[in-house]
Amino acid sequence: MYDAQGRAYLDAYNNVPVVGHCHPYVVEVLARQARTLNTHTRYLTEEPVELAERLLATLPAEIGNVTFTCTGSDANDLAVRVSKAATGGTGFIVTDFAYHGTTETIAAMSPSTGVDLGPGVYKVPAPVGPGATAEFGAGVRRCIDLMRAANIRPAGLLVDTIFSSDGIVSHPEGFLADAVKEIRAAGGLFIADEVQPGFGRSGDRMWGFQRHGVSPDLVTMGKPMGNGHPVAAMAARPEVLAEFAKQTRYFNTFGGNSVSCAVALAVLDVIEKENLTENARHTGQYLQLGLRTLTERYDWVKEVRGAGLFLGVEIGANPTTKLNSRQEAARIINGLRREGVLIGSAGRNADVLKIRPPLPFGRAEVRREMETPENAAVVIQVSRMEPLKGHAILLRALAGAPANPHAGRDGVPMHVESTAALDLSLHRRPPQ
Ligand code: PMP
Repeated sequence: MYDAQGRAYLDAYNNVPVVGHCHPYVVEVLARQARTLNTHTRYLTEEPVELAERLLATLPAEIGNVTFTCTGSDANDLAVRVSKAATGGTGFIVTDFAYHGTTETIAAMSPSTGVDLGPGVYKVPAPVGPGATAEFGAGVRRCIDLMRAANIRPAGLLVDTIFSSDGIVSHPEGFLADAVKEIRAAGGLFIADEVQPGFGRSGDRMWGFQRHGVSPDLVTMGKPMGNGHPVAAMAARPEVLAEFAKQTRYFNTFGGNSVSCAVALAVLDVIEKENLTENARHTGQYLQLGLRTLTERYDWVKEVRGAGLFLGVEIGANPTTKLNSRQEAARIINGLRREGVLIGSAGRNADVLKIRPPLPFGRAEVRREMETPENAAVVIQVSRMEPLKGHAILLRALAGAPANPHAGRDGVPMHVESTAALDLSLHRRPPQ
């Protein structure tokens, strides 16, 4: 990306443009469908049907239905309604610092927003820290006991399968299985929120839950699904959906419209044709190796976590700068930003560096299509970088960040500066 002054930034933060900003194939499919027909699902066109089939082919065989929505929040809200109808329960379990969306119900299931938890919503400690993953199932069990003691029937366990806002937790693979067993034994459902880890980001596999060998009752997805176009969905086991369907109906005017579904199909095509899931694994492994050298070099770089191209680097207090972990993470992030690399932070303390680039990161293709006058966007694809250059820049910038001469020149930044302040001019051409 380029800012208003034409300065280039490497986008290593934005998981929404999963196949790269303004991918020409996705843009072309979008325009073609917009020229042909755009209608909602009261006039059923081929695109939502084909998209549902394509998505189902990537999901476990037990999952047989897909409902389209516009946002991940919509999808989670619907999943909660479906869970209540299917189980007759009202109790939900979420992690300590989870984020699941914006509706009233879902904000009250998103402790990271600071909103009070809704009635019947219980928090399980996030599986962050030594031994925490092994404890996760027991934590869910404790929540179920608390629910029962309060006369609340369990309805579901809702987790982001890579625990993005909790601080990114990926290993050991399989640690979710106990928790899923517990909620099912209590009559509740397992809802996998794939809004962040879905669509190949975790490398090798399409969905985050697949890394844990579990099969959800409900799966929600969004963000990368349309590469920036608002399209999201909830997938379900048919028997879980049955009671909800008996009680009511769900029509979402824009959910499942022909253009959004055509875009989502194009995104799936690109993920497949460009082997982006595999690329996420390779590039992610390479990046992790590099990041691990930082943990050896600096005591205060505590741990590297993550899978594929969803990485977290836990930062501790830095004795050299005398900053606490949160301040140090902010200093690194702002230092990188000044060096032209965008990353973010995660976790209750905002002290986990969050690295989540578009999936073509590090690929060799050079794409210049975006420089045509009619496409005068200055947003570039990371895939325009030469092989490995993307992560080479990121690693160099991270390694150099503590010694960055610009860091702190205008005082110690206490907060991560918003990327919105970058004044990205999306309608100007990049400098030639
Ligand atoms: N679930 C998770 C894990 C998310 O990260 C988000 C968005 N950050 C959502 C749900 C909500 O998605 P949306 O913003 O599309 O409503």
